[in-house]
Amino acid sequence: MKNIAVIGAGTMGNGIAHVFAQNNYNVNLIDISQEALDKGLATITSNLDRLVAKEHITGEIKTQTLQNLSTFTSITDGVKNVDLVIEAATENVDIKLKIFKQLDEVTSLNTILASNTSSISITKIAAVTNRPDKVIGMHFMNPVPIMKLVEIIRGYNTSNEVTKTIMALSENLQKVPVEVNDYPGFVANRILMPMLNEAIETLYNGVAGVYEIDTVMKLGMAHPMGPLQLADFIGLDVCLSILNVMYDGFKNPKYAPCPLLVNMVQAGKLGIKSGEGFYDYSESKKAEKITKQFQ
Ligand code: NAD
Repeated sequence: MKNIAVIGAGTMGNGIAHVFAQNNYNVNLIDISQEALDKGLATITSNLDRLVAKEHITGEIKTQTLQNLSTFTSITDGVKNVDLVIEAATENVDIKLKIFKQLDEVTSLNTILASNTSSISITKIAAVTNRPDKVIGMHFMNPVPIMKLVEIIRGYNTSNEVTKTIMALSENLQKVPVEVNDYPGFVANRILMPMLNEAIETLYNGVAGVYEIDTVMKLGMAHPMGPLQLADFIGLDVCLSILNVMYDGFKNPKYAPCPLLVNMVQAGKLGIKSGEGFYDYSESKKAEKITKQFQ
């Protein structure tokens, strides 16, 4: 495999494109928005600059990485002659199904189609194509250039051969791939999201405050971030939507999102991205000041 396409140049797409390009793959980065492509390339460039400054890579590797990248605003143009497409577009089922239908029409029958979705069923995405054996989940973690894990999700029809190819490819990127089956939340979010939800429930029930909950988990469990800080970092809207996918998928009340989480999302308090969640980010992006509501 040499030529790959990444759809979506946002938070995850530009990181995925960066990692492939730095490992000598030719990468076509595709987004419907030229602005997102420009921003994505600027992010990759500044991340490469940081790696050069820290002497993790040389200036030549930076130049070569940027040369390995091309940008496109059309899917049809960007996926010509690629061996693999990784879709990292907005987490919306209608958008993803439309993209995969189009990919099935415009790519060669041998092209493997992967999705970086956090919560949408790979089996459901595969079902809109005529090659469900070649559709797979590649769930990278944020920030992609730093995080080692790739959760490889086998849809109901994903073939052994495609799974093996994608596992080996992930190792070529210096990542650690882990194979899991396609059920709501996969493994990462199935375990993480109930913990974040329980932390919110603990706050909602008045058992302890934001500082106390995060400190218990940071110092007591050696977590690098407290669960409330992590929920703010991921985005409270994203946490709510993943919990809802698991709640709907399993029909089990243990995944029901805490009413406080629902209220905060409805009030537009989404965490770092909106400037306020459990912490107040109006002055700094660090979780240093607890939101007035929770003081
Ligand atoms: P984002 O909003 O930062 O970027 C999404 C990009 O997709 C945008 O630039 C948008 O213009 C583009 N896009 C939308 N529709 C498109 C289309 N039809 N064709 C081409 N481009 C299109 O989103 P993100 O956080 O990078 O998330 C992308 C995917 O990665 C989602 O499926 C999400 O669940 C998953 N994911 C996100 C994280 C995270 O921490 N952000 C972690 C793991 C997985």
